[in-house]
Parts: sequence; structure tokens; C-alpha cells
Amino acid sequence: MHDALAAAARRWDAWNAGIRERPVGPRLSNEAIAERLAAYDFARPRELTALTEDLADLIEQASLHPTHPRYFGLFVPGVRPSGIVADALAAAYNPQLGAWWHGPAASQVERLTLDFLRTRIGLPPSAFATFTTGGSEANLTGVLAALAAAFPRHPQDGLEGVPAVLYASDQAHDSFVKIARTVGLGERAVRRVPSDARQRMDVDALCTAIAADRAAGRAPFLVVATVGTTATGAVDPIGALADVCGRERLWLHADAAWGGIALLSDALRPHLAGIERADSVTWDAHKTLPVPMGAGMFFGRERRFTEAVFSVRTAYVPETEPGTHDAYQQTLQWSRRFIGLKVFMTLAELGRSGVAALVDHQAAMADRLRESLRAAGWTVANDTPLPLVCFTHRDLDARGTSELARRVVAEGRVWISEVHLPDGRTWLRACVTHADVGPADVEELVGALARALSSAPCALPR
Ligand SMILES: *Cc1c(COP(=O)(O)O)cnc(C)c1O
Repeated sequence: MHDALAAAARRWDAWNAGIRERPVGPRLSNEAIAERLAAYDFARPRELTALTEDLADLIEQASLHPTHPRYFGLFVPGVRPSGIVADALAAAYNPQLGAWWHGPAASQVERLTLDFLRTRIGLPPSAFATFTTGGSEANLTGVLAALAAAFPRHPQDGLEGVPAVLYASDQAHDSFVKIARTVGLGERAVRRVPSDARQRMDVDALCTAIAADRAAGRAPFLVVATVGTTATGAVDPIGALADVCGRERLWLHADAAWGGIALLSDALRPHLAGIERADSVTWDAHKTLPVPMGAGMFFGRERRFTEAVFSVRTAYVPETEPGTHDAYQQTLQWSRRFIGLKVFMTLAELGRSGVAALVDHQAAMADRLRESLRAAGWTVANDTPLPLVCFTHRDLDARGTSELARRVVAEGRVWISEVHLPDGRTWLRACVTHADVGPADVEELVGALARALSSAPCALPR
């Protein structure tokens, strides 16, 4: 074990030491990967350290690397040793967190961690909190809790034909489509409320939709506030949505899978004001802290609704100890990994101010990127306090924008993506997800964009 872990640690250190000189994206084709893996037919045993070296090498050569500071990508932050060591410890001792009594130390570590993060949201100490596999499980939990709250017979009897509908903006995460399909609501139960010019849910349009559904005999039960949209980082007007939900007696779920990053910084927290009024909250540690996947979190104002959904009696699990809660009775998961250790160890190592400094640095680098883009003739297109920058260029139409993104990625020095808006526009998108992004990385991105724009072998489509 020691030799194999030491080999992995050596490789990782060497990888990071030279990371800025390496391409962000994969260097091997799918065919080349398959060729290398063809050596593994499981016919004979292999020595673990050599195996470790070989697989580390393959992953290094054939991945898009979120650990690269110039991965301006989707919400996958770089990772720190605290999170990696924690995940190795969790794997090594493999405590079973399905029941408190099975992993009492691990259960208390998670409790303490979630309690600290709950205070950042502003939910009361009586709130329920759990680690999830990711934001999708947390959003599913929110929908199920909302169903149990609105239709108390739902956990036992199902929907019984009740035409239940939920509201999310046209920018909300598509996990709600999957959730509506899997829980039996059906995709048509998801009302995609139009967003305004800043990609935030239009509150008047929401009120109109609720009134129309009620008039048609349908049963609204849930509004999703997206707190940091995946495409452009827009924050729905949480306070106004909480007012609507209070008036209409609807559950408010705040999907802050990535936007929750602002909760970690005293400077950015005010932009999420009102989130403490939500009935439930999704927040991904694996998108907002430098920890490995998967570490989602679900917070519910009241425990009784999730309990109504998930509590069961079994013939084979020993009884819950008084004064504790067994996770398998409170959540969808049964066998449960020690998800929270990497979050705990990262918070403990950095301290509260260290974590805030990481987030503030990412926000500052995003501001710097906005400035540099404007200076270089680009137009910043989105409006968010979060470190996500969408931009356009007057010389590019939608096809040209896609082609430019492809060229930048193909060059391999930086990674960015594109987003498509409901009205057909296409923007470029760069998210500062890595805590080590420096001014030189920002300038490298702007330089790569300029090269892609000007070095056209054939002109970019206009
Ligand atoms: C990523 C994301 C999700 C899904 O979270 P996973 O951890 O990928 O399952 C949900 N909502 C938003 C807003 C997201 O950005």
C-alpha cells in the first residue's frame, strides 16, 4: 500500500509542478486509449505499483484536466491534497455511514461540517442536512420533500392523478427534467418560466403561470430558484420568489449547486440574500470547494418531510440509537460512503478565512478577465457577481463563435466552452473554477482568443 500510494503521490506532485506547460485537454485518441487498455485482459495478476504508474500515466495523457489552472470550464474545481488524502482515508477505513452507530466518528464529522455550512446559508439549527452524491440527488430530494409537504398522502399513495406542477426558469438545471420523469410527474409537469434579459427568472411570468395553472385545475407545489445558473451564473431574485411562495403556499427550493460558492465569502454572501428563506437548498461542495467529486449537499428547513419520504422499517438493520439519526432512514442512499471527510479536512486545513480568500481570489480573477476582454475588443455579455464570464465579439455570429471555441480548445493552452441562449444567441463562456488562476493565466486566455480570431486559415463565418 505504501509503495503504491507513494508512487501516486510522486506522480501527482510532478504533474502539478509542470502543469502550466502541459495541454489542458486529452492528447490520446479514443482508439489510442483502447489500444493501451487492450493489454488488460485480466488473465494474469499485476503488481500494484506498476499498475498505479501505468494508470496515472494514462489518465494524465487522456483527460480534460480540471486540475489545470487554465481550465476555464464547467463547475469542476481543482483539488488540494487535503481533499485527496481525505478521500484515500475514507476509502482505506471504509466506514459505512448508512447508520450512525456503524460509523459514529464519521457521522459526527459530517454533522459538524454540514452544521458550519448551514450557518453560511442561514437556516436554523433545527434544519436537516445531508451529503449527497451530487446536486442531482439533492434536487431530487428537494422535489420529493416538496411533494410530501404539498400532498401528505404522496409517500404512501403516489400522485393518484393529481396534476402537480413545478416551476423553474428556462435557465434552470436540466436535472429537474430527469427528476420529473423519474418520480412520475412527467416532463410536462416542469413549467419553464421565461427569464429576463439577465437570465433571471421573470417573477411576473411566474405569477401568471401559477394563476393559469390554478385556473386550469392543476396543482402547483414547488418553485425552483436557480442561484447561479450553469450557463451564465445568473441568480434568480430569491427574495421575490420567497414572497410569491409565501403568498401562494408553495415550496421554495434554492438550487445553489455552484452559486453556493458565494456563501463562503463575506463579500459575496449579500448577493444571495434571501436564500435563508428557502424550504430546501442544493449546494455542491464538489463545485465550490477544491475537493474531489462527488460531494453534494442537501439542506431542508424541516426534517419531517424528508423523513416522510425515506423512513422505512427493516428486518435486518439494528435499531437507531437514541439521540441519533440513521442516514438510510433519511435519504435515498443506503450504503453510504464517507463523503464529508474531504470537505471537513479542506475546511479545517484552510480555515474559514482561507476558504473565503480562495473564493474572493476567483472573483477577482473573473473581474480581471472582464477588464482584459473589454480592452481587447470583446463584449462581456452576462451580469453576475459570481466568477463566470460570458462574452461575444462583434465579428462573430453563432457559427463563428462555435468555431472559435473549437479552435481555442484545439490549441490546448486553455479550455473554454460556449452557451446557447433560448433566443438563439451563442456566447463564449469562461468560468474561473481553479483557485490557482493567476493574472498570467487570464492573459493567456485572452491571447488564445486573439490568436483564434486572427489566425484564421479561412475566415471565421460572420
Ligand atoms: C451541476 C448542477 C446541478 C447538478 O449537480 P451534479 O452535482 O452534477 O449532480 C444542478 N444544478 C445546477 C445549477 C448545477 O450547476
